[in-house]
Amino acid sequence: MSPGQRFDVVIIGGGIAGASLAYFLTRRGVTDVVLLEQESQPGFHATGRSAASVVEWDPVPALQELKVQGAAFLRDPPADFSEHSLIKATGILVTCQEPLWSAARAAAATSADRGTVVRILSPAECVDLVPVLSPAYVDGGVLLPEDGRIDVHQLLWSYLRHAMHAGAQCRWGATVEGIRVEGGRSRAVVTSAGELEATWVVNAAGAWAAGVGMLAQATPVPLTPHRRTIVTFAAPEDVAVRDWPLVHNESQRLYFAPESGGLLACPMDEEPMEPCNAQPSELVVAQAIERLGRVAPRLVPKTLRRTWAGLRTFVPDRALVVGEDPRVRGFFWLAGQGGCGIETSGAVGQIAADLLIEGRTERFDAAILSPARFAP
Ligand SMILES: Cc1cc2nc3c(=O)[nH]c(=O)nc-3n(C[C@H](O)[C@H](O)[C@H](O)COP(=O)(O)OP(=O)(O)OC[C@H]3O[C@@H](n4cnc5c(N)ncnc54)[C@H](O)[C@@H]3O)c2cc1C
Repeated sequence: MSPGQRFDVVIIGGGIAGASLAYFLTRRGVTDVVLLEQESQPGFHATGRSAASVVEWDPVPALQELKVQGAAFLRDPPADFSEHSLIKATGILVTCQEPLWSAARAAAATSADRGTVVRILSPAECVDLVPVLSPAYVDGGVLLPEDGRIDVHQLLWSYLRHAMHAGAQCRWGATVEGIRVEGGRSRAVVTSAGELEATWVVNAAGAWAAGVGMLAQATPVPLTPHRRTIVTFAAPEDVAVRDWPLVHNESQRLYFAPESGGLLACPMDEEPMEPCNAQPSELVVAQAIERLGRVAPRLVPKTLRRTWAGLRTFVPDRALVVGEDPRVRGFFWLAGQGGCGIETSGAVGQIAADLLIEGRTERFDAAILSPARFAP
């Protein structure tokens, strides 16, 4: 990188957040964009480690709305966006026990009123659909038949490919080490290979976003990474799992789904930790197996194929953080995607592009996502 380079927008972070913003900016004609990623490839952290599901179901109303908008993009992207369909509508089955079940049934009615396709299932219907479920842990289920699994690799690379084709640059192995702020405005990012001046500096650094904010002396946004773990294993030979939905058991805190000819399971762990290359803990892996033993005992495997972990980064209210910093002008937050950054990217990327280009958006109440809610 030679010194003195200048861009309209520098995006820090090559996960789904940074990639989707690069795409939506270039679609709107803002092509003087560079995306910087510290790893040697995009999507190495949270984006490459997700459960790849789209679930239009969330207790946080802002997230529910963003999931619905994001799912609409995934179902119907622009004609030339991707080579194949971005979603496989395997269905999502949310099961639970009382007292959660009554709340889930009420929430399902609200979702249906807002246009999401939902079906209420009796315990017997849940077991019909997924015959390994223990009826003792199911007081009912909500089936979201149009939701399912996302082809994350294709989504990420479609965002990046179109952005690059339109003129955006992507630099892998480029770490932002400092941010130059003068007169209350961010002016440039400092990397090991030199300085890049920018009108806008976008913080899409995932688990590292709080630290990147500190580099700019921006508003202290209370972002905390939380580890989440996934295990994969073979299905029992006499059980046909391929057409199952992803099954959540909210009460037992476990979900499982068909994955690569076998199954994956997740104990829905949320351990706060510093940003890092997250690794699974043996204790949490054991918890996943123990919960599987209650929810679907026939699935308990003798051995695991793979285990992995990634960081989901939240602020306390669990909504995302999208918008210009109230203290440092030109410094823009695109962080706090938590557990839904992939499925919401088609909505959030557009909202962020609106806010960067026009300073406003018609798509969503931007105040709910604004970093100004953390201003001291
Ligand atoms: C186990 C698990 C299951 C999940 N399941 C789902 C799901 O089913 N559906 C869903 O929608 N979401 C899911 N998520 C959440 C989803 O993965 C995240 O919300 C999303 O990937 C966040 O994207 P991001 O771009 O913000 O972060 P990341 O993908 O982590 O990208 C941020 C990037 O910034 C880079 N970076 C950081 N600091 C710097 C720097 N100083 N200079 C340059 N680069 C930097 C990092 O290297 C990183 O690549 C899951 C997450 C996990 C861990």
